[in-house]
Amino acid sequence: MSHDPVYVTRPYLPPLDELMPDFREIWDSRVLTNSGPYHQALEKALAEYLEVEYVSLFCNATIALVTALQALKVSGEVVTTPYSFVATSHSLLWNNIRPVFADINPVTLNLDPDAIERAITEHTTAIMPVHCYGVPCDTEAIQKIADKYKLSVIYDAAHAFGVKRNSGNLFAEGDISVLSFHATKVFNTLEGGAIVCRTPEMKRHIDHLKNFGFVDEVTVVEAGINGKMNEMQAAIGLHQLSYLDDALSRRRIIDTRYREALHRVEGVNCMAVFKDAASNYAYFPVLINDAYPISRDALYALLRENGIFARRYFFPLISNFAMYQHFPSADPANLPVASQVARQVLCLPIYPELNDEDLQRIISLVQNPTGGNK
Ligand SMILES: *Cc1c(COP(=O)(O)O)cnc(C)c1O
Repeated sequence: MSHDPVYVTRPYLPPLDELMPDFREIWDSRVLTNSGPYHQALEKALAEYLEVEYVSLFCNATIALVTALQALKVSGEVVTTPYSFVATSHSLLWNNIRPVFADINPVTLNLDPDAIERAITEHTTAIMPVHCYGVPCDTEAIQKIADKYKLSVIYDAAHAFGVKRNSGNLFAEGDISVLSFHATKVFNTLEGGAIVCRTPEMKRHIDHLKNFGFVDEVTVVEAGINGKMNEMQAAIGLHQLSYLDDALSRRRIIDTRYREALHRVEGVNCMAVFKDAASNYAYFPVLINDAYPISRDALYALLRENGIFARRYFFPLISNFAMYQHFPSADPANLPVASQVARQVLCLPIYPELNDEDLQRIISLVQNPTGGNK
């Protein structure tokens, strides 16, 4: 009995035949980048889809995060979450900013507003929260803190594309939101990302920053970077958008199957369903506790032996990487919830093309990890 390996995700792509006419047009025109027609069309389409006014495309979300901090002139210290992909904190180090880690809420796994407030010092200039797994942060509480201490807010919204919140547009929160269109994300342009901002001046500034700081042919005003998305990627993005609803509905079916099958398994906790927001079902994290017959790592290994590559996102915590451990806020005693969740979490495969047979194999293994009678 052999199966193809099942990874935690599989990039979704539109049919190649559909892309070819656009690729040919790009070839023939020789307009490959520098805000060409596809770039402009995708910025417009995304602004419509996200129901925001100002979108600036990037080559990836990490460069977009670095640029967002520059655009807002953030310096000193920034309060952020240890429970994220390492790019969140790396973007601070690239700007010579000190990350200050605050603990997370055990239900949403997002930054706990009280912990944010406790972490603020005279050097704090901004907060960088993450909508982890696409679950919206407590944006109201975070904005209150930001207003009280006059801080910028940059949301790392890399997980949140396609999330629709009832109580106001998630991407209109804070000063800037950063999206990732990496291959592994719900909406991908192979590599890619975007900044969503609130004013035309900010968009113009960001567009300069991602193009070396050029404001016209002969004028460079600051040390910008090359953060541009190219025309091929923008063309792919336009096609991806038309399949997004289908992709999300297949993800939703898989999410429901997992929940129905796992909610009664002792020792396995699924994430809560949040009534205020329609999920994008980007991830399917479960938390494995002591009531489960085997450890989280033993389940991870068992799945691997069966060709199923679940991932321990986010383990280790960013604050536990050797290069971050010297920051005082990285002390695990400061981050009890994040530390525990990182020991318990396992993200199960979820992607539109995950077939029913593979899904059932994963479910059976999680339901019965000892392979027999209990
Ligand atoms: C994927 C991801 C990033 C980085 O995105 P890239 O587009 O790969 O640079 C940043 N933050 C979080 C939370 C992510 O998941």
